[in-house]
Amino acid sequence: MSFQDQVVIVTGASRGIGRAIAAAFAAKGAKVACVATTLANATATAETIGGSARAYACDVSDSASVEVLFEAILADLGTPSVLVNNAGITRDGLIIRMKEEDWDRVLAVNLKGAYNCTRAAAKPMMKARYGRIINITSIIGQTGAAGQANYAASKAGLIGLTKSIAKELGSRNVTCNAVAPGFITTDMTAELSDDFRAHVEKSAPAGRLGTPEDIAGAVVFLAEASSSYITGQTLTVDGGLSL
Ligand code: NAP
Repeated sequence: MSFQDQVVIVTGASRGIGRAIAAAFAAKGAKVACVATTLANATATAETIGGSARAYACDVSDSASVEVLFEAILADLGTPSVLVNNAGITRDGLIIRMKEEDWDRVLAVNLKGAYNCTRAAAKPMMKARYGRIINITSIIGQTGAAGQANYAASKAGLIGLTKSIAKELGSRNVTCNAVAPGFITTDMTAELSDDFRAHVEKSAPAGRLGTPEDIAGAVVFLAEASSSYITGQTLTVDGGLSL
């Protein structure tokens, strides 16, 4: 129970990777704040993972809502030790057809959302002289992808954010790292074609797509107290696909 009574905030905790991350921390004794845009979805996770998990509704792209969210979490659960910026969306399209609103929305949720939550978590973590911030980026942020300029830019931005926060907060014993998943079986990848799935299975040394639990394991590792000398890094978890 290495996270006994630690407060862990997971955004995008209602489904997929975020739900697996929330469950992994709850299993290790953490008090998990499960955040999603709709309370019913967040509550479903909090009730499933048990322990002292609590559900919160918040659109992470909205800075005022994030301020209210963190006030509520501090009052309900206490000072956060771990923040996992996992909430993310896609709005794919080739650049010549990509609508401005799709560019703006993806950047707002995936990148500004992480900025909003990191800013809110940084003060209490600095005061406590302890913290672990983990951003869920993507291998697409490193390689780019046709049809995903907005998503790739947001995920590349997260890597720059990660390194900067690591430099700013390192002296206060607050680390900031990123995890870059490959292709993971969730709602987000539900529409991948069978051909593409077969390509991933053939190309990745692991011979399969990833599971949300594969990502949760990496996040928990980076959040451990014993990982205090790892900061500013991006840990790729893709079954070797990008090798
Ligand atoms: P998912 O199944 O689509 O779940 C996305 C989660 O984000 C949901 O819990 C959703 O909550 C939440 N969310 C969306 N917009 C939000 C907002 N504005 N404010 C708060 N929460 C919001 O996605 P996933 O596949 O688990 O992906 C999780 C993260 O991993 C994302 O950042 C994604 O980019 C990244 N990633 C995924 C893959 C993959 O292959 N799946 C690969 C690389 C990186 P609601 O229930 O309220 O909608």
